[in-house]
Amino acid sequence: MTSKSRRILTYLLAAFAIACAGLVFLFQERTMGYALQEAEKQVIDMLLNHRAIHSYINKVQRPEMYRLKKEGKLYQDYFSPKTMSFTFVARTVKELLNEERIKEGYPKIYFKLATDNPRNPVNQADAWESRLLKRMNAGELKEFREVVEKDGMKYLFAAIPINPSESGCLACHGEPSAAPRELIEQYGDKAGFHEKVGVSRALISMRVPLGSLLASANAVLLWISAATFLALAAIYSMIFFFIHRIDRNQQALVKANTELQRLSSVDYLTNICNRRSFVDSLDQMINHADRYGNPLSILMIDLDFFKAVNDKYGHSFGDEVLKNLARLISGQIRSTDLFGRWGGEEFVVAMPNQDREKACTVAEKLRATIKEYAFPKGAHMTISLGVATFQRGLSREAFIDQADSALYQSKENGRDQVTAYSDSQC
Ligand code: GH3
Ligand code: MG
Ligand code: MG
Repeated sequence: MTSKSRRILTYLLAAFAIACAGLVFLFQERTMGYALQEAEKQVIDMLLNHRAIHSYINKVQRPEMYRLKKEGKLYQDYFSPKTMSFTFVARTVKELLNEERIKEGYPKIYFKLATDNPRNPVNQADAWESRLLKRMNAGELKEFREVVEKDGMKYLFAAIPINPSESGCLACHGEPSAAPRELIEQYGDKAGFHEKVGVSRALISMRVPLGSLLASANAVLLWISAATFLALAAIYSMIFFFIHRIDRNQQALVKANTELQRLSSVDYLTNICNRRSFVDSLDQMINHADRYGNPLSILMIDLDFFKAVNDKYGHSFGDEVLKNLARLISGQIRSTDLFGRWGGEEFVVAMPNQDREKACTVAEKLRATIKEYAFPKGAHMTISLGVATFQRGLSREAFIDQADSALYQSKENGRDQVTAYSDSQC
């Protein structure tokens, strides 16, 4: 895999991890929000329930009691919290409700009518409830909600003031002298009196357990997180797969291109430069020599009587001779020299930083090497060489022509020899 693809995939993996973590974080936030919403619904439900009980006692039950008293069917001083105290009735109904909840496997909801002036001590507000009630009566606070932790369990704590006392309420909560005799007998004349019209004498204090709500929300969260993770993992795998495939195709393309380039610049038989790539590189050498004045020489090499070899041993043998010749010459020249097949049985060597004299030495060495070499089937070959040395301002064509004409001279003079362009032999 290319480093670019690896980089892209690393970035994607990082983005994938961040997306996963972000989504799980968001879901988790929503889980708490969901549990609180559900708890709030239960708070509202309890509150409405409570108001309904309050209304029933006030509007139905008490008037009924008063009617019975008025008609003499009930004695005047009758008072029972079981029928007359909406606090008592509400608390009892809530206790029964919690019993039913437990039977059905639901957790209890803590419910209390908390007051600083309780008739029944069970309704005594704790310090916190008392503080909240004071703030509500001072108009600083309308309602109160907070997530609290008690005995390692989370609850939504809600505090809502009951409606301010009306004049009717003072029959039992005003002055003890106005209260029913049986009420005084049951509770005495100290507790729950001296309330004032317009003041909320109690607040509804509720604690809804969040545990089971959070547990069910967490179960949903787990599923959503797992589904999200799998979806993102599938997307990432697909991207990975496609990038990997594109990458593989690209690599194959690069390889094919490189091979194509090599084939277009290399001679198929001898594996040295073909004429075109030789000319391209020679042009660069000429430019360099022309600009900086460094010596540059070329050798034009031609096998002597090669046609006769082909005729005698066949074309494929001739090919073997050409390959051997190319290998021999390659082994004799420098790595900085440029060696190419000019065409047929003609080869050319370009030698940067070699003046005429040095080039002639190399040419002579090559001629001697080939002459001594035993080709397959014991064949012996000779080569003729023409040497040309670059002079500033000379075109490539003219430069080659000079080497060519020197080679022609070598042929003319009897072959198996080196001629440098300048009319005289090396
Ligand atoms: P001279 O000494 O004058 O150069 O004689 P020569 O026979 O070498 O020259 P000539 O130009 O008459 O013949 C060149 C021969 O090279 C003719 C051609 O068949 C052969 N030849 C050219 N390219 C190839 C090749 O790729 N493979 C083989 N086997 N022969 C080739
Ligand atoms: Mg020739
Ligand atoms: Mg020849």
